[in-house]
Amino acid sequence: MKNLDKVFGSNVFGESVMKERLTKPAFKALKNTIEKGLPLDTSVADEVANAMKDWAVEKGATHYTHWFQPLTDITAEKHDSFISIPSEGKTILKLSGKELIKGEPDASSFPSGGLRATCSARGYTIWDATSPAFLKNNTLCIPTVFCSYTGEILDKKGPLLRSTQVLSEQAVRVLKALGNTTTKRVISTVGPEQEYFIVDKKTYEKREDLIFTGRTLFGAMPPKGQELDDHYFGVIKDRVAAFMSDVDEELWKLGISAKTKHNEVAPAQHELATIFSDSNSAADGNQIVMEVLKKVALKHDLVCLLHEKPFAGINGSGKHNNWSMSTDDGVNLLDPTDTPHNNKQFLLFFTSVIKAVNKYADFLRYSASNAGNDHRLGANEAPPAIISIFVGEQLEDILEQIEKGALTSSKGESKLDLGIKTLPVVTKDATDRNRTSPFAFTGNKFEFRMAPSSTPISSANTVINAVVSEILSEVADRLEAASDVDAEVSKIITEFVKENRNVVFNGNGYSDEWVEEAEKRGLPNIKTTVEATKALINEKNIAVMEKFHILSKAEMESRYEIALEKYSKAINIEALTMLDMASKKILPAVIKYATDIAASINTIKAAVPSADVSAQTELVTEVSSLTAELNKAIAVLKTSNAAAADKTDAYDQAYAYKFDVFEKMSALREVADKLEVIVGKEAWPFPTYSDLLFNV
Ligand code: ADP
Ligand code: MG
Repeated sequence: MKNLDKVFGSNVFGESVMKERLTKPAFKALKNTIEKGLPLDTSVADEVANAMKDWAVEKGATHYTHWFQPLTDITAEKHDSFISIPSEGKTILKLSGKELIKGEPDASSFPSGGLRATCSARGYTIWDATSPAFLKNNTLCIPTVFCSYTGEILDKKGPLLRSTQVLSEQAVRVLKALGNTTTKRVISTVGPEQEYFIVDKKTYEKREDLIFTGRTLFGAMPPKGQELDDHYFGVIKDRVAAFMSDVDEELWKLGISAKTKHNEVAPAQHELATIFSDSNSAADGNQIVMEVLKKVALKHDLVCLLHEKPFAGINGSGKHNNWSMSTDDGVNLLDPTDTPHNNKQFLLFFTSVIKAVNKYADFLRYSASNAGNDHRLGANEAPPAIISIFVGEQLEDILEQIEKGALTSSKGESKLDLGIKTLPVVTKDATDRNRTSPFAFTGNKFEFRMAPSSTPISSANTVINAVVSEILSEVADRLEAASDVDAEVSKIITEFVKENRNVVFNGNGYSDEWVEEAEKRGLPNIKTTVEATKALINEKNIAVMEKFHILSKAEMESRYEIALEKYSKAINIEALTMLDMASKKILPAVIKYATDIAASINTIKAAVPSADVSAQTELVTEVSSLTAELNKAIAVLKTSNAAAADKTDAYDQAYAYKFDVFEKMSALREVADKLEVIVGKEAWPFPTYSDLLFNV
């Protein structure tokens, strides 16, 4: 591609366009909000709106939309054209400041968890100037926060923005107490890595389960899976490479810094990472990444699967959420520097995060839960469901020294010399990597590895920011009251280390021993989404969210209802899809298959009475007996699903879907997969795993 520098950001109403098109005072006012977090000066709204409209129209836009993130886990948009009432026979294109600042979508048709009745419909979308407006399909998309008429937040962006503000306030208090007088703002930085699968569109279209649920509900393992480790970082196939190139270009136009791409562990699985930014724009950016992946795939006759577990038996997808805190002058507060033992500021922030993660493990675990992720967490491909923290050798050694009361040294980097004269000697990081840890310190940031691949990263980051803020506020309170700040810092660090060593674990998180060990350490092992949602009604978590005005108790409770409902609906759709596929496709196909073979037995016997038809007879017998089992499994699932649907309490219902319906689904699948293996390829009614995983 030519002129990457010109292409980058060309579809974003970003800083350079603003500078070009706005008057100095308006530009400065906007910049103060975007960069310094100062209140938005709404008097400039008319000017900004007009400049946005002109820019968008010049680029071919006809409409604008308030782009928001309701609690459905996908983005929402309602398009309005720029056309306003004609004046003197001339069409006028317009976007007023009022229209830029506030929109009024109907709030009753989005999940509100009982916060809004169907009859009280009014809702607002409010402009978030800190995330840039962008162009998509001739529409100017304006990022907004979605709330109800009475001010309850009904989306994922509102709480995230509040949490970033709170984190900044608390971190600045700590820095100030440490003698820093220059930092005005601390930014939570986030770099998400997105995993996904790519399958052929025509093959995909023959699978109802992929269409309705995003994952395969049936499917025997192909002869080859991921056991040869030959896909990870493998050569990218031409068709996929062409798709990836288009994705990069689309994202670059939207100012999203797609940086790294590679094949992932499972066949047909890939990853895309963008460069980190502030958590709000990273969250918006990741929504756009997911949308672009899906859209561009279709152009290549491919389908992008974002589900956490599209295929049983091989790895599923997640999202690694790299997180840190940085001052407005660019100092990463989680940078240990070369001698972390001498860097008390680092140790204070670092141990505060450790304490936050330990104390609010259940809340973090919730933030990474959805029906899809239940297939991954704890299943030897993703982190366990137990929250622990990997700190690495160097920092483990420091924690050890702190605990012993004598902090004197830091293990440093060392040299790596392979003894090949023509190769350079390189420096080795102070710490190896650990791939099994859910919350891993990776040099100068934490990597939260539990997040689901298909959902927004806002929830996880809201929780991380909120719980870290709580501990930082405790630290700030103590430092502000201390007569000897330096001594108090040491005291806090030592205390935090001693109290929270239990959550630090550098070993193999996939092992059974860890599960036992974690239990001894008192770490929660919350295995399912249903159980994880309890974090939303946990008093300790509600207290943090209320204290910082991120979410009220009522909003937390409504999210609890929504999460449970969402889970129940997901499983219900899966069960219904299975029933449909099993009764309308698999059952008729296997009956026909057995009937054809039975007929062929008669034909052969009639022609050659002495012919050996034992193979055919055995096959018919086996298929028939499995068909009977299949029929029973269908009936059992139907009954369970109906019983779950009848439950009225949201928790009981979700529980029934998980511990009854889901079990019956697995039983049905098991029989169907056995049939798939013995039934002839031509007779099977939809594409198999081999067809899906190895034909792009
Ligand atoms: P991997 O874990 O795959 O080796 P990288 O080291 O390439 O990944 O980094 C992963 C992500 O971490 C990238 O999105 C990168 O921009 C992000 N990242 C790097 N530094 C920070 C930071 N200070 N805060 C948040 N994210 C960061
Ligand atoms: Mg990573």
